[in-house]
Amino acid sequence: MATVDLGFPRPAGLPGPRPGDVSGAPPSFHVLAKPTGAICNLDCSYCFFLSKEELYPGSGFRMSDDLLTLYLRQLLESHAGPDVTVAWQGGEPTMMGLDFFRRAVDLVAELARPGQRVEHTMQTNGTLIDDQWAAFLAEHDFLVGISIDGPRELHDAYRVDKGGKPTFDRVIRGLDRLKAHGVRWNVLTTVHRANENHGLEVYLFLRDDLGTEFVQLIPIVERPSPGGIPTGDQVTERSVSPAGYGRFLVEVFEEWVRRDVGTVYVQMFDSTLASFAGVPGSLCVHSETCGTAVALEHNGDLYSCDHFVEPDYLLGNIRQRHLLELIASPQQQAFGNAKRDSLPAYCRACDVRFACHGGCPKDRFTMTPDGEPGLHYLCQSYQDFFRHVDPAMRVMTAALRSGRDADEVMAWVERRHRRSAGLAVVDQGAAPGGLV
Ligand code: SF4
Ligand code: SF4
Repeated sequence: MATVDLGFPRPAGLPGPRPGDVSGAPPSFHVLAKPTGAICNLDCSYCFFLSKEELYPGSGFRMSDDLLTLYLRQLLESHAGPDVTVAWQGGEPTMMGLDFFRRAVDLVAELARPGQRVEHTMQTNGTLIDDQWAAFLAEHDFLVGISIDGPRELHDAYRVDKGGKPTFDRVIRGLDRLKAHGVRWNVLTTVHRANENHGLEVYLFLRDDLGTEFVQLIPIVERPSPGGIPTGDQVTERSVSPAGYGRFLVEVFEEWVRRDVGTVYVQMFDSTLASFAGVPGSLCVHSETCGTAVALEHNGDLYSCDHFVEPDYLLGNIRQRHLLELIASPQQQAFGNAKRDSLPAYCRACDVRFACHGGCPKDRFTMTPDGEPGLHYLCQSYQDFFRHVDPAMRVMTAALRSGRDADEVMAWVERRHRRSAGLAVVDQGAAPGGLV
């Protein structure tokens, strides 16, 4: 389907295209904006963004004021519904300084349509957060994601600064400021070779020591990237092992399903439950198709995804073509559909495909057992995890379908545990779904 090219720039005051004006435009989408590009004050060993600096030789890596204005205008006018997320990431976005974000918040207030609800989010390493930052983030109700890989020794294994020094204390100091000012925050933890055998320890640290109520667990799969382009089928020694991510998830799940259902939100578990319930989950890597989460570079270049900031996946520049037209472009639709259409036969026949969907195309660089290329590096982990959680997920799904809460799975797990240990069980009637 051809898109309607409304041309750009338009005369001042002329409204931009709305989703209904542009063929193929998704009803909602997500833009990760990187105002400093890949530039960061840390030097985490596994960071795939840092090699992206090579894509912009000689760049100052700062989003200019006119581009910021243009971007926010396009973002706000592209959303048909009332809810819009303005998401900042890096690199390290706080390196832009507070004035950049003050200006962004003012612009949003000026440009938003009546009735539009805007949520500001930021993913940060937390090391530059002081009282001034925290007060600002609280005042504008930012949702802040902090990157922490576990307790000190596990966090500091790879999350180091430019001088190779550990960062744990600086991150915790930043988090303390956020807590002191009442900022909404959550944790992004990467799973890699140093912490993959410490799933429970990491989870208990996040839950009990930090008081985290929302956790994202992201596997590190890192390949050599000459010129910023991942190449070959070998991974670095920092990468999580093919079965290690699954082991980590199972360990965390076993604790969560006994004590924390309904009180701690683990994105992977929530997304898996959605798959079992037959509704779309929140994780793009386990969705059938993708393509509605794009990445905006500091100079206005828009890429198909934050994981594909590479020349072949450049959709265009928002100075030349409207954001919505780029997202609705045939190139981006093909990108999103390729996730489903390029699945190897081994995945198409897989019993957990409905929950896995083959994982992110970025990491589909291994061979299936019968020699077909395109299998995800973490297939073993995915099979192990999705099969392990199947009974509990079915119990939760049955409870939800009956209008009850998913947290009754915790009593079901307890009863199952007591039975297998030969202990007395108080019979509370048939379990949801008849699974006991
Ligand atoms: S390419 Fe991977 S990370 Fe990007 S949207 Fe698709 S599944 Fe998600
Ligand atoms: S678990 Fe493995 S075989 Fe099954 S869909 Fe996922 S990547 Fe494919």
